[in-house]
Amino acid sequence: MPPRKNNSAAPIAEETFHLLERFTPQVCRSLRTRLIKWYGKQARPLPWRESRDPYRIWISEIMLQQTTVKAVIPYYERFLSRFPTVQTLAAATEEEVLKHWEGLGYYSRGRNIHRAAQMICTQYDESFPEAVDEIQKLPGIGRYTAGAISSFAFDRPAPIVEANTLRLYCRLLGYDGDPRSKGGQELLWEFATRIQPKDQAGLLNQALMELGSLVCTPASPNCENCPVQEWCAAFVESRQSEIPAPKVRPEITQTVEATVAIQCQNQFLIRQRQSDERWAGMWDFPRFPVESITPEEKFKTSLPSLFHREVISRIRSMSEVDITDLNLETEIRHSVTRYRIRLICCSAQLDEKPLKSLFSNDASWRWESSEALASLPMPITGRRFANHLIRTGIE
Ligand code: SF4
Repeated sequence: MPPRKNNSAAPIAEETFHLLERFTPQVCRSLRTRLIKWYGKQARPLPWRESRDPYRIWISEIMLQQTTVKAVIPYYERFLSRFPTVQTLAAATEEEVLKHWEGLGYYSRGRNIHRAAQMICTQYDESFPEAVDEIQKLPGIGRYTAGAISSFAFDRPAPIVEANTLRLYCRLLGYDGDPRSKGGQELLWEFATRIQPKDQAGLLNQALMELGSLVCTPASPNCENCPVQEWCAAFVESRQSEIPAPKVRPEITQTVEATVAIQCQNQFLIRQRQSDERWAGMWDFPRFPVESITPEEKFKTSLPSLFHREVISRIRSMSEVDITDLNLETEIRHSVTRYRIRLICCSAQLDEKPLKSLFSNDASWRWESSEALASLPMPITGRRFANHLIRTGIE
């Protein structure tokens, strides 16, 4: 049987199309009225809700990707006080933007907003585009973020599907398939399109997200106080704990990496991470994977000789410097996507060569004092190691 036609661009498979049938124009109207009324009473006073400035909404939406509201608020306020307009952001250096993003993680977000600000200033006459299709042309902005900006700032009807609304829509529809699959995404975007009003689109979208965040929570949704309970298939069938279908978690890989604070004349050797690396554009101590130690292998203060040799050789091939007095400082365990990383942090001295002759022609390497490190953007682990060095008096 051919796929059914719908309001959004993609066809929806026949086996899930019937889930939409209950949501007639009349039901969608009632659902919107109920939601907007609830939002009027329950909305949290968040700093980005005080304005309809598309620039501020955009910054908040990018920061909120993969990061909680509580964690974002202080970053958002600091960022906006340094870059209050798209013009100030476009005029800043990437290094300064990354410094203000430090600690938030997913640093490609910071690099993309900087590039997008420059595009808005050069290609859009310093005005944020209003239409979803135009907004999506900016780097780092996908369909959801474009819809959020277009509806929140300009009140244009624009469907949205993100983590909170994805869960809410699945439960309302009673959809127990994989919501991240192609078919699942088509269904959810079609539902989001169907419930869009002609006006008050921004208010409705914020209400949907707020309901998903505060009431239709992943565990123990508060169905007793839910304004859309009467249209919720998961509630009627008591299947809230089964819907949405859980994410398939990627297999975890354990790895070991080393980082070395190389010192000479009270300065440290640091390196700017390249565009093909994690944390591109950030400054860090030389860091690399090691093979001579397993993720579980224990040692106290004296470094195993194989590890010792491997680190000296890796530093030599990366930077062409020789080091001496390699010592264990601390260990940091952290995660990046599916990797669980044991990071062995060492200190060392530069062996013999005079400091000034090194890296004078290579801007991706620098010698900096511990005070200067404070003003450079560093990944969280690099910053933790730098703070450890200052705390323990190695500066
Ligand atoms: Fe979510 Fe419960 Fe409301 Fe359904 S009734 S939308 S499961 S909170």
